[in-house]
Amino acid sequence: MTQQVDVAVIGAGVAGLSAAVRLAAAGLTVAVFERAPRLGGRASAFTDRASGERVDNGQHVLFGCYRETYDLLRLVGAAELAPLQPRLRLPMAGPDGRIVPLVCPDVGAPWHLLAGLLRWPALPLTDRLAALRVGRVLRRARGGRVNDLVNSIDPSLTVDDWLDHLGQPAAVRQWLWHPLTVAALNETADVAAARPFVRVVADLFGPSRHDSAVGLARVPLDELYAEPARRFVEARGGHVLLRTPAEVVVDGSRAVGVMTREGEVRARAVVSSVPWFAFGSLWRQAVPPALETIAAAAAAMRSSPIVTVNLWFDGPVMDEPFIGLVGAPIHWVFDKAAIVGERLTHLAVVTSAADHLASADNDAVTRATLDAVAAVLPRAGGRRLVRSVVVREHRATFSVAPGEPARPGPATGVEGFFLAGDWTDTGLPATIEGAALSGRRAAELVAAFLRQA
Ligand SMILES: Cc1cc2nc3c(=O)[nH]c(=O)nc-3n(C[C@H](O)[C@H](O)[C@H](O)COP(=O)(O)OP(=O)(O)OC[C@H]3O[C@@H](n4cnc5c(N)ncnc54)[C@H](O)[C@@H]3O)c2cc1C
Repeated sequence: MTQQVDVAVIGAGVAGLSAAVRLAAAGLTVAVFERAPRLGGRASAFTDRASGERVDNGQHVLFGCYRETYDLLRLVGAAELAPLQPRLRLPMAGPDGRIVPLVCPDVGAPWHLLAGLLRWPALPLTDRLAALRVGRVLRRARGGRVNDLVNSIDPSLTVDDWLDHLGQPAAVRQWLWHPLTVAALNETADVAAARPFVRVVADLFGPSRHDSAVGLARVPLDELYAEPARRFVEARGGHVLLRTPAEVVVDGSRAVGVMTREGEVRARAVVSSVPWFAFGSLWRQAVPPALETIAAAAAAMRSSPIVTVNLWFDGPVMDEPFIGLVGAPIHWVFDKAAIVGERLTHLAVVTSAADHLASADNDAVTRATLDAVAAVLPRAGGRRLVRSVVVREHRATFSVAPGEPARPGPATGVEGFFLAGDWTDTGLPATIEGAALSGRRAAELVAAFLRQA
């Protein structure tokens, strides 16, 4: 490839590819450098040797309120690969295995959610009414005032503290707020901060009734966005290089390119989209003094794991494409045959905030998962388990507990060096949407910087 490009992007996860696609769309030549042998970072897929199936590193759920994500998918021609439910339907299984779906009727927002909650037989009527108190607070986010609402919340409050203030009964927490917290923040409600939770819930309860609808990819994750993004960048004269770790080259106070094993590539601007735990590896020598605060924050950020157990059975075991589990040691079960159309019955069983599973051995994790699955899906008990694959993502997300370091913005003290990545200051927890937003934001700053240069 050429030794001179307009922009070097380090990292080919959602954030890096989001930035690269926007930059390529703006007519700039882009080179993306990815350390791993595959695209996608924490939202990726691999080939399972035994079944030959492409398996995600973990089931990812999108929502209608993921506007940046769906914009990106539309730009690369892939939006139809992650269809949204026509309206929210959340099948939740109680401790007795009974599935009680939260279904929102076809009326405008926010009435669809209010009506859905009011009619949800999982909860006694008094608890349903109590849940609506949260809806009343969220009304303060309407008209683009979500930041005002979030900033009005004491940053030291956990989700549970905030739910206490709103008098949320135990059953509402168990059936609704706690599963949502663990799914969206990958931390439990007694640990995660209230601010990002409120931001997520305000987005889900957004102005359109489609905002809360669930979107599931019909293809493996890398085919959803990463391969289309790569094709988009390459069709516009850019390059996407795998197995190519990169370091930033700084001349004085300015980023002038990246260094790879094959040599230096000069660039007019550099975007880092590497995660918090890789930021320190971007520098051959010491971190530039102007970035020391960011590097210290990145090094101090804590991570939270997600464990996915893939189970292949010799026949169907569930009737819903996915279910959420209430009061169970596992959190969500996805039927990949129903979602992706795989030949075999393949369940992806997700446990978030999974510190206890991340260090257990595969047999123990699989046994515990099978027991929990059989408790809610009795048909699984009568089927033969053909194969299992445990995927541990030890650093799936950064912690959003109160007191975590401040997250950096996209502009830095080094001229020509910009930051993207879910861990940057988007206001969102570690999500595809946060990553896509961060990439678009960094790309806009780069384009403005290059116009002035
Ligand atoms: C199991 C799991 C389930 C999840 N579920 C959901 C979900 O349901 N919904 C949701 O919205 N989000 C979910 N997430 C979170 C989401 O995947 C992440 O927030 C998002 O993918 C982060 O993207 P990113 O581009 O910021 O970072 P990454 O995906 O980490 O990408 C950074 C890339 O930089 C590369 N890199 C690092 N150092 C270098 C270097 N020196 N040179 C070159 N390349 C380098 C890495 O290899 C990586 O590919 C989940 C995450 C996991 C792990």
